[in-house]
Amino acid sequence: MKVRFWGVRGSFVAAGGEFARYGGNTACVEVTEDDRRLVIDLGTGAIALGRALLAAGAEKRPLTVLLSHTHVDHIQGFPFFAPAFHPKSRISVYGPRGAGKKIDVVLDESLNPDYSPLYSLKNLSAKFEFHNLGEEPFSIQDFHVTAAPLPHGRIDSWGFRIAGNGGTVAYMCDVGYVDGIPTPGAIDLAREADLVIHDTTFGPEDWRSHQRWGHASWEHALAVAERAGARRLALFHHAPDRTDEEVDRFVALARAAAPRGLSVIGAMEGDDGVQLLGE
Ligand SMILES: [Zn+2]
Ligand SMILES: [Zn+2]
Repeated sequence: MKVRFWGVRGSFVAAGGEFARYGGNTACVEVTEDDRRLVIDLGTGAIALGRALLAAGAEKRPLTVLLSHTHVDHIQGFPFFAPAFHPKSRISVYGPRGAGKKIDVVLDESLNPDYSPLYSLKNLSAKFEFHNLGEEPFSIQDFHVTAAPLPHGRIDSWGFRIAGNGGTVAYMCDVGYVDGIPTPGAIDLAREADLVIHDTTFGPEDWRSHQRWGHASWEHALAVAERAGARRLALFHHAPDRTDEEVDRFVALARAAAPRGLSVIGAMEGDDGVQLLGE
């Protein structure tokens, strides 16, 4: 199983040289095993991913997208995601009812003429299927997926645990724990995972003054990974004003605090990906 980060930022795109190394695109992660593939979130990282998928002829195979929630940094690549415009594409989207609406309604509204010249989902050439997320585990293309709601300010953001033949990855983005104490549900999702991708919008100092924002610090991410017995933690959803040097500092602090057996990386856009098996 391989994990590739196409977008690692939260909130909005970070443009400029001081963000270039980790990358400036908003959340989008690709999980592949053999020729099977899941895409998690459609931030602006999905724009380059979509181009790469079409260049590789991937429209011939069904594509599955898991959406954690529909805050704009997690769907702003959707109107520019090339497979959505290919008549041969078949795209299944799994998403939550964040503030009460079904996922297809939210995505359709995001294309309405006030926001987009596309007007409606009906104008996209791909064939779409929409599924509302629930807590029953499900299988997609031999990936075993468990989804669970995580606290994210006034709404839930859904976390995913994806188990394949070659490893298990947990994606826990946009999560803010009350008093910084990870929920049992979060720890369950990350249980003995080979890789935990976790919101680290803040450091411990700035988290205290932003507790209601629904995001985590690297300390909380480390606590989740440690209690879950995970092997590797990727700091993710870097704040858009967090420079490369500051992300390096978070990684160094988290590494110094991590127990033996837990390695820490900063999620970085466009690298060759994290290989989960055979290391
Ligand atoms: Zn976000
Ligand atoms: Zn959010």
